[in-house]
Amino acid sequence: MEEQVIVRFPPSPSGYLHIGGARTAIFNWLFAQKTGGKFILRIEDTDADRSSEESVAGILESLKWLGVTWDEGPYFQSQFIAEHVAAAEKLVKSGHAYKCYCTKEQLDEKRREAKQKKLSLQYDGTCRNLRPEEIEKKEAAGTPYTIRLKVPSGDGFVGFKDIVYGIIEKKFEDIEDFVIVRSNGKPLYILSNVVDDIRDGITHILRGQDGLANTPKQILIYKALGTQIPKFAHMSLTLDTKKAKISKRTHGELVAVRFYREHGFLPWAFVNYLVLLGWSMPDAKEIFSKEELIEAFSLEGINRANAVFDVRKDDPKFFTDPKAISINTHYLRNLPIEEIEPYIKTELEKEGIWDPEFQGSKHEWFLRTIDLIRTRFHVTTDFGAAGRCYFSDDYLIDPKPLKKNILKHEGLKEWFPLLADRLEALEAFTLEETERAIREIAEELKVKAGILINGMRTAITGQPKGPGIFDVLIAIGQHRVVERLRKAVALFE
Ligand code: GLU
Ligand code: ZN
Repeated sequence: MEEQVIVRFPPSPSGYLHIGGARTAIFNWLFAQKTGGKFILRIEDTDADRSSEESVAGILESLKWLGVTWDEGPYFQSQFIAEHVAAAEKLVKSGHAYKCYCTKEQLDEKRREAKQKKLSLQYDGTCRNLRPEEIEKKEAAGTPYTIRLKVPSGDGFVGFKDIVYGIIEKKFEDIEDFVIVRSNGKPLYILSNVVDDIRDGITHILRGQDGLANTPKQILIYKALGTQIPKFAHMSLTLDTKKAKISKRTHGELVAVRFYREHGFLPWAFVNYLVLLGWSMPDAKEIFSKEELIEAFSLEGINRANAVFDVRKDDPKFFTDPKAISINTHYLRNLPIEEIEPYIKTELEKEGIWDPEFQGSKHEWFLRTIDLIRTRFHVTTDFGAAGRCYFSDDYLIDPKPLKKNILKHEGLKEWFPLLADRLEALEAFTLEETERAIREIAEELKVKAGILINGMRTAITGQPKGPGIFDVLIAIGQHRVVERLRKAVALFE
C-alpha cells in the first residue's frame, strides 16, 4: 500500500496571507484532495517579535474564504520549542552536531580578517574538534554556546530531486557548519521547521521557491536525525509585469488575499485564477470547477517558469490583473444565481442597503434583478455601487452622464414630468407597454427617443449605461420610476 500523503502549509504570521502564500496553500490542499491525503495547518510563530494574533486570525480567515480546508491544526510552532532543542541535543550526543563556544566578537573578528584576505567567510570549525578536556573546561565554566550541525567533510555533496525544479546539488564544502540552536537556547527556524515536519509525518513539502536555499541544509538535518526525507516541490516566484517579485513593500495591499475579498471577488473565481499562476489544465481550459481541477491536478504539472501577476494599482479600468477580473466576471455572470446571492447580500449589508424582504416577499424580484444587472458587472461590489439604484432610493447620479444626458437637454425639464404621468397611467407595466408609451411620447414631442431614454436612464439609475432601458424600468418598478422622474426635475436647479 502506498503511504498516505501528508502535506502542510506553515505560514509565518507576520502579515496577511498574500498571493504567493495562497497559491502554495492551494496547491498543498489540492494535492491532499487529489490523493486522499491529509493537510495540516501550522503557524510558524517562533519569531515572537514579528508574529501577531491578528495576523494569525487574518490568515485563517483568508484560507477559509478561499475554501482551503485543513484536516489538522492549526498547530503553533512555538509550543514545540523544547522538542526542537531536544532534537539538537540528540544530534550533539550522536556526534552530528557540536557545541560552539566562540563568542560573537571572536566570530566577527575572524570574518573581518577573512574578508580582508579574501578568504571564505564560513565558520572555520574551531569548535568542531575540541578535545574532551577542553569541552569539559568550557562546560565547567558555564561558557555559553551555540549548537552547530556538523556538515560532512570531503568532496561529497547533498542532492535531491525537486519535483518542480529537478535535480539540485550542493557541495558540502559550500555549506558551513550552520547554527541550529542560538546561545540563548532558542532553536533556529531551519531546525524547528524540520523537527515539526518529522513529528507531523510530512511526506511532501510544497513551498515557495524562497525555501529552496534552505533545502540542502534541511536534508542534512533529516539525515543526521536518521529519518526519512520528504519529497520537495518548490513553487516558482510570482512577478509583476516588470519582472520584479511582487511584495507587500512594492505593491501594498494588492498582494493580499483580503484585498480581493473586499473588492468583490468570488472565492472560487480567485482560486481558479491563482491556480493558473503556475499550473495549466491538460486541455488548457481556463475556467474549471473544483471537481475538474482535483481530477486533473498533478504535482508534475506545476510550472517552473515564474508566474506573472499583472498588478495595476491606478488603472481606472482594471484595478488588478485583467485576467483575474475576466475570470471573476465569467463566474459572476454564469454561476447559478443562488450561488452568488450570499455574496451580494454581504455587499448590500456592507453598503447599509440590505432589506430582509429581499429574501422574503421580494425574493423573486431580487433574484430576477441580480440576473438582469449581473450581465454588466465584474465584481460583487458592483451590486452596491452601479447596482445601488435597484436596491435603494438613495443613489448618486454620476456627474458625467448627468451633464451629457440631462443638463444638456433643457427640454427634459418638461419631458420628465410628462413621462412620469404617462408611465404612471399604464395599467400593465410591461416591456411592451413601457416601450410603446415612450415611443409615442417621443413622436408627439418630436424629440429623438434616444434623448428621452438616456435622460431617463441617468435619472433613475444614476448611470450612463446598463441593461436595456425597458428591462431597467420593470426591475425598478412603476412606482419608483415615476417618483424618480418627478424628482429629476430638481437636477436642473
Ligand atoms: N514559515 C515559512 C514561510 O512562511 C514556511 C516555509 C516552509 O514551507 O517550509 O515562508
Ligand atoms: Zn566555535
